[in-house]
This record gives sequence, structure tokens and C-alpha cells, in this order.
Amino acid sequence: MRVLAIGCHPDDAEFGCFGTLARCVARGDEVYVCGITNGSGGSMTLEPDEIAAIRVKEAEAAAKAIGAKEYFNLGVYDLYVDSNDRAVIDKLVDVIRYTKPDMIFTQYHEDYMRDHTETSLLAFNASFIATIPNYKTKYPVLEVVPSIFYMESEGVSDFRPTDYVDISDTIELKTEALKCHESQYGWLSAHTGNDAFAASHAKNQFRGKQCGAEYAECFSRCMLNQRVNTYRMLPEGR
Ligand SMILES: [Zn+2]
Repeated sequence: MRVLAIGCHPDDAEFGCFGTLARCVARGDEVYVCGITNGSGGSMTLEPDEIAAIRVKEAEAAAKAIGAKEYFNLGVYDLYVDSNDRAVIDKLVDVIRYTKPDMIFTQYHEDYMRDHTETSLLAFNASFIATIPNYKTKYPVLEVVPSIFYMESEGVSDFRPTDYVDISDTIELKTEALKCHESQYGWLSAHTGNDAFAASHAKNQFRGKQCGAEYAECFSRCMLNQRVNTYRMLPEGR
């Protein structure tokens, strides 16, 4: 299986699906991670380009920590994600055509932040466009429309999961990957008033309780035409 996670900011895919991605790596999948933004907004003290350079490196290290094959960053500035931006659509189409994913993890289409919802639309649109032969970009057309699993976000209180993945064996690796985002420890608690890393851990524990695991991540599967198939794609059991 080939797997691509399309997160909005550096750290979003980590929170949403890195336990599952680590399981995908363990079962032999080729795993890729793509960030849409460069994280330019994530600091109280550094200038946008200064913090962006740090955050892209942190995201690269996080992807490496779970054994991803490659990390891509489209370089959009935080708060500028626009699902109608043709240049960004084309960049993402090429990441998808290059990585040829069977399944994509991405942001949920309802969220507290516009960048996240625009990323969800971008991933949905670009992964369809990637299969259209007459839409020409650098890489050749993708043959099958990839399945999409929307990640649970910190900002969604009524997220309704369709699928669970037991991440009890990979929660440590996920924590290691999250720790790569050193610059965000201070920023996230200063901006939101809570510890996002502790909250993520607690959420994985809560989702685990719901499905009989110690820790779990959950997803909402896109059930539209061509996005579904007849077998389970997510890692099974423990
Ligand atoms: Zn984000």
C-alpha cells in the first residue's frame, strides 16, 4: 500500500495520524508526508521566515522519526491557504502523482481554522484532478482515485469516526515525532492556554477506550464515488 498524509501546518498530520502512519510503515507500506504551509505563524517572537525555516526542519525530522520515505512542504504561508489557488493545486497534484497513494489522510472539512478546511478541499480536489489525463503537470497521471480518510482534529468537538486504528504499539513513536516540534511547545500553550501535546495523548487514550485498545486514532472516511472499495485499507487489529 502507498500512503500519503496531507497536513495543513507542520504538526497537523503528526497529531492526526502519525500513530497510524507508523503502523503503515511497520506493515511495509510506502509512507509520504506533505505539509501545505511552512508554519510562518507559529511564534510569538520570531519573524515569519525565521520560524518557517525552523518548522519545516522540525516536520522533516518528525516524518523521518516514523520512517516516512519522503517529506514535502508546499511553502504556503500560514493563514494564506486557498483551495482555489491554481499554483498550489498543481503543486499538490504533482506530489500526489509522484507518490501515487492508494489512500490519503488529510484535514477534516469542518474545523476551527480556515487553513485546515481549505487544506481538506485542496486534498480532495487535487487527488481527483491527479487522475485526469488531460490535466497536464510535471508527473504522469494517477491511475486510481485515492481513498481519503479525514483525521480527527483538536478543533472539532462533534467528530464522528467511521474507523479506528489501534496505535498502542506506536504511541511512543508518535510522541517522539511530536517532540520534534520543539518550537511549538511554548507557542501552542501561549496561544491556546492548554498543552496540545498532553491533550492529543489523552484523546488517543479516550479513542482507545471506545474501541477496546489502549490508544487509538480515529478517522472519518470519505464515502463518495470512487473513494470506496471492498477491503480494509487501514492497519487491522493491534
Ligand atoms: Zn494546523
